[in-house]
Amino acid sequence: MADTSIPDPFPALMPVYTQADLYFERGEGSYLFDDKGERYLDFVGGIAVAGLGHAHPQIVAALKAQAEKLWSASNLYKYHPTQRLAERLVHLSFADTVFFQNSGVEAWECGVKLVRKYFSAIGKPERHRIITFKGCFHGRTMTAMAAAKTEKMVGGFGPLIDGFDQVEWGDLDAVRGAITHETAGLCIEPVQGEGGLRVASAEYLRGLRHICDEHGLLLYFDEVQCGMGRTGRLFGYELTGVKPDVMCIAKALGNGYPIGACLAVAKAAQGMVAGTHGSTYGGNPMATTIGNAVLDVMTAPGFLEDVAQKGALFETKLLELVARHPKIFSGRRGTGMMQGLVCKPPNGDVVKALQAEKMLAVAAGDNVLRMLPPLVTTDEQIEEAAAILDRVAKSIEG
Ligand SMILES: *Cc1c(COP(=O)(O)O)cnc(C)c1O
Repeated sequence: MADTSIPDPFPALMPVYTQADLYFERGEGSYLFDDKGERYLDFVGGIAVAGLGHAHPQIVAALKAQAEKLWSASNLYKYHPTQRLAERLVHLSFADTVFFQNSGVEAWECGVKLVRKYFSAIGKPERHRIITFKGCFHGRTMTAMAAAKTEKMVGGFGPLIDGFDQVEWGDLDAVRGAITHETAGLCIEPVQGEGGLRVASAEYLRGLRHICDEHGLLLYFDEVQCGMGRTGRLFGYELTGVKPDVMCIAKALGNGYPIGACLAVAKAAQGMVAGTHGSTYGGNPMATTIGNAVLDVMTAPGFLEDVAQKGALFETKLLELVARHPKIFSGRRGTGMMQGLVCKPPNGDVVKALQAEKMLAVAAGDNVLRMLPPLVTTDEQIEEAAAILDRVAKSIEG
């Protein structure tokens, strides 16, 4: 029986994305250029990927130089750039050890394996469950969607992988109530990205740390979106000083080149011995050379201070917009260079209206308009974005 709901011809590119009809061909800093030569102010930044903006000369130079030397020789052998990037991430963070993957979700899942393996290694294999938080996003594998439990993501893909219990965001008692003899850890984004830019307070994270210490659980931070300079600190957890035992990063670590990393303290990583985990591409020297180049820029004196200052300017501008357009925006969320406006009209409509004005932003949960500009965005470009937002808000008000 023919099903008339199946498009014919079926799209060559599997139609799982709702894509704007724009083909971008070139980027420069905080601007993107489409195939008609039109320039867009990019406040999506590849969804927090292009931390240093598009076509950053230092990153391009690093990529070209490594491309002419070696792309992959497998993890049967060692690479200097990979060893070096691991040592630098250890030096710059709470962690003692790093595993490289190719994407955010892989890095996240490496952390889940590590948490389970830790309890198996210390003789408590029954402890395998991880508590996650409403509105979280950890990626799209079977495991990651089972952790997030978002209806839109899991529908039709069941049965879900077991082992994740979810609680309301912001409620320490809910966490305490969800802990059983099978609980292994808590996994949280210090700043929720997809969920709508909710920032975990220092008090809340301290509370989670305390609960973990009390019950012998591992605290796992997903900093795939909020890490790598986004908050004005290299890692989001530095804002509160609450240190995790495990953390995953990705997105801006490669500035668009696929790389992810799972970081952990030695104690938590004790089960990850030879043969327990691996990746063909993970830690290849192209990716880690670029990761090193990204760190070179981000750790240069003044870089992160500058990001924090720009974040503060951005925040001020958005608060002005909320005050000026109460019918369009009901509030501001986020921190540093990951900011959101809570919209009254559907956020998708605001995204479209901005796009017509040549500015890119992305929708997030809770009807939030999410903006993740490159960290190198100038004060003038922030003013430009604020002016476009003002114009668009006025036109929607009518
Ligand atoms: C993007 C994201 C992921 C998944 O990263 P992919 O590279 O798309 O697999 C995981 N966690 C968070 C917080 C993210 O923002």
